[in-house]
Amino acid sequence: MVVKVTVLVGGVGGARFLEGARERFGATEFPEREDTPSEGARENSVTAVVNVGDDAWMHGVRICPDLDTCMYTLGGGIDTERGWGHRNETWNAKEELAKYGADPDWFGLGDRDLATHLIRTQMLSSGFPLTDVTAALCNRWRPGVRLVPVTDMRHETHVVIADPESGDGAKKAVHFQEWWVRYRADVETFGFAQVGGGTDGAGAGKAQATRAALAAIEDADVVFLAPSNPVVSIGAILSVGGVRAALRTTKAKVVGVSPVIGGAPLRGMADRCLEVLGVETSARAIGEHFGARSGNGILDGWLVAEEDAGVAIDGLDVAAVPLLMSSPQATAAMIDAGLELVGL
Ligand code: GDP
Ligand code: CA
Repeated sequence: MVVKVTVLVGGVGGARFLEGARERFGATEFPEREDTPSEGARENSVTAVVNVGDDAWMHGVRICPDLDTCMYTLGGGIDTERGWGHRNETWNAKEELAKYGADPDWFGLGDRDLATHLIRTQMLSSGFPLTDVTAALCNRWRPGVRLVPVTDMRHETHVVIADPESGDGAKKAVHFQEWWVRYRADVETFGFAQVGGGTDGAGAGKAQATRAALAAIEDADVVFLAPSNPVVSIGAILSVGGVRAALRTTKAKVVGVSPVIGGAPLRGMADRCLEVLGVETSARAIGEHFGARSGNGILDGWLVAEEDAGVAIDGLDVAAVPLLMSSPQATAAMIDAGLELVGL
């Protein structure tokens, strides 16, 4: 069977899941080459709808951490030990900026990485939408999956915290990157807010999903939610205008994968984000948080780890399978279990 697969993804967890999808369904030419035969046999395709909530301006350049993590990982250029940024990275520009006392000094901006940001910024300031910029960058990396940002508008995750510099606990909002990287989420936190949306009158208000992102959800046979951070990766995607509605009405089956195994996130600080929302760090609570499409939610199926076998959620098909993405093959097996769960 030929399948059209769409995956909602964040950064590191999302990229790993996409490696499994590419393994399972084969490589999708992205961007398509001129000589790619477009007619003829339909092939499997994998489209990733990528979170842009982490995106930020730093030192005058536009940074898109999750898009870049996916692009570098699938393109074979990621630093596998760090999990982000380029392999063989150097940090001369960062050191020089620090000598000028330039802010922010807590963000790791590598020399090689900087080239990506320079090209992106140049293209954005010439008027190209982020979707086109991403395709242009992928022309070099050939990730083997289609990478589309969920929106071309600004949709940054900001965090309301008690200002650590003020003695009286005054609240302030900081960019998610500052909360995560600078404060390591270790500061009194009240909530998240998406900042941005349309600024040109016509699109004023909340950020809207691109046509490409919505079509990817509407036209798919199956949509996976990667085991990405349920709050600041998947949650930030779901909060873009049009995405929830598309997930609730698509003819595709929607399958989520738990980022939490036996009550703990694999990497990162998903537990810290869930705590802010008052959601327990468990496969059951996250599955309920996304909810069943037969109710007001977005899922048909929910994959939990073998350690969490026995989890039952109203209206959802749940299966317990190995959820460790130890290799693309292991992740491909997880994807097969997801397909089977929803009868594909
Ligand atoms: P980020 O944007 O780089 O933070 O990455 P994501 O949001 O895409 O993914 C982070 C999440 O991936 C974390 O909450 C982890 O719990 C989850 N994760 C990482 N590795 C694995 C794995 O092998 N299996 C599962 N099930 N989840 C994982
Ligand atoms: Ca991220």
